[in-house]
Amino acid sequence: MARILITSAIPYINGIKHLGNLIGSQLPADLYARYQRGRGNEVMFLCATDEHGTPAELAAAKAGQPVAEYCAEMHGVQSDIAQRFGLSFDHFGRSSSEQNHRLTQHFAGRLAEAGLIREVVEKQVYSNADGRFLPDRYIEGTCPNCGYERARGDQCENCTKQLDPTDLIEPRSAVSGSTDLEVRETKHLYLCQSAMKDRLDAWIDSKADWPVLTTSIAKKWLHDGDGLQDRGITRDLDWGIPVKKGDEDWPGMEDKVFYVWFDAPIEYIACAREWADANGKSDADWERWWRTDKGADDVRYVQFMGKDNVPFHTLSFPATILGSGEPWKLVDHLKSFNYLNYDGGQFSTSQGRGVFMDQALDILPADYWRWWLLSHAPESSDSEFTWEKFQQSVNKDLADVLGNFVSRITKFCRSKFGEAVPEGGEYGPQEQALIEELTRRVRAYEGHMEAMEVRKSAQELRAIWVAGNEYLQAAAPWSTFKEDPEKAAAQVRLGLNLIRLYAVLSAPFIPHSAARMLDAMNTTDDGWPEDVAAALSALPAGQGFTVPDVLFAKITDDQREDWQARFAGTRD
Ligand SMILES: [Zn+2]
Repeated sequence: MARILITSAIPYINGIKHLGNLIGSQLPADLYARYQRGRGNEVMFLCATDEHGTPAELAAAKAGQPVAEYCAEMHGVQSDIAQRFGLSFDHFGRSSSEQNHRLTQHFAGRLAEAGLIREVVEKQVYSNADGRFLPDRYIEGTCPNCGYERARGDQCENCTKQLDPTDLIEPRSAVSGSTDLEVRETKHLYLCQSAMKDRLDAWIDSKADWPVLTTSIAKKWLHDGDGLQDRGITRDLDWGIPVKKGDEDWPGMEDKVFYVWFDAPIEYIACAREWADANGKSDADWERWWRTDKGADDVRYVQFMGKDNVPFHTLSFPATILGSGEPWKLVDHLKSFNYLNYDGGQFSTSQGRGVFMDQALDILPADYWRWWLLSHAPESSDSEFTWEKFQQSVNKDLADVLGNFVSRITKFCRSKFGEAVPEGGEYGPQEQALIEELTRRVRAYEGHMEAMEVRKSAQELRAIWVAGNEYLQAAAPWSTFKEDPEKAAAQVRLGLNLIRLYAVLSAPFIPHSAARMLDAMNTTDDGWPEDVAAALSALPAGQGFTVPDVLFAKITDDQREDWQARFAGTRD
């Protein structure tokens, strides 16, 4: 039995995510986790909310709540939606957890001892009215280049000129609008990534099996221009993990917190500790996933993320781990995704354009979305959601192919043999040919799933469903029954066994429907078909079943047009 650690990029706390976010990391990670569990492997699947930083503070202010309260509430909301989408995390943690506080401070202490943190005095804009330093993008004013009145301190979005806050004419706080600003000196900590460049370079070179897209992004950051730069890891904020050196205070760094990019990936580890604490487990139970000196040396660690997150995961987080000098598990494989676009444009959280996770579940069950998103995953390039494509895929793949198969065979059996697997007859050449085809296809499906080729896996699964339909069409037990009821009984027995086989194979994609299929077959046997022929005899003659209600309802043209108009923009 293999042991597989899986993490999904952690979603930011400020609101409900859209379907583009979902397919960019959490959903394919869930597919892989469910598949590996289905194969009998030991899986630890972790995700969390990313809760620190100025956007969380501003979202809380907008909601009229203290930031801690806002984050706790939004964590609950995101956790509930994740569960309803069938995301099978072993733990859905929080980057603001006590466990992450301690671990982040621990890593900072180790890095400081290793001489990999330096202190830098910087000048930064302070707002007297807000009582805080302002990040560049939270200072607004008139652009000196084009006169646009709402230019941000980092860039003018009208003329795209890169700016410094001090370039702005009549600068003001984007938080309060106050113009009572001054430039103050403040001290920050920098992680000396440049000193780690060679170690990171050698580590990336050892990853010969990584996609070129991934390694080329990492190499670009390592070598372009002046090479890998040191990064600030602290901020002048209230909300965050207080800057400490392990358990000790850090002189001169009182009232500062770690920058969100430093503590967020450490939450991958802290999340395992949260899991242990929440489930009455010991430190040894979570450390065997993360410490190579405590049992994790045989763990395969796989990360899922959108392409914009690749630099953090290939360089910044490994720099933290390698720099600590401690035997923490490094990523073995990194699966990254391009973007999903929405109906001729982009998903937009700010403009409410596209379908958000809660809205999706309000109109259709999770499995419809899971199937479409996974079978159209943006792997080799960006992909696009359109309502036409969605309707077509749901109606053809799910309703016409899989749903129809289940309905036909169970209803036919009920009408001729009753609601139990019929006995009599034997599998002949037609059945043997199907078993051979399915064996070949199931092995191909396994290969694609192991390789995390999401679209290819979906295509192979669909072909497996189609093979059953074609068999049923050719065998035609409704005709056979008239001349040779025994032969028809064997055909129906095979068909009912195929429902169980399909449930097992399809569960990673459509877990809720797969569970209904097993229920209908009155079985809890979800064993993987290592031997397809044996798997097709798993349901013995005489085993009772029930005809399930419609598994997948078709999407009508009226529904499609209605939804298309409803999600065109401006979520209220
Ligand atoms: Zn401008």
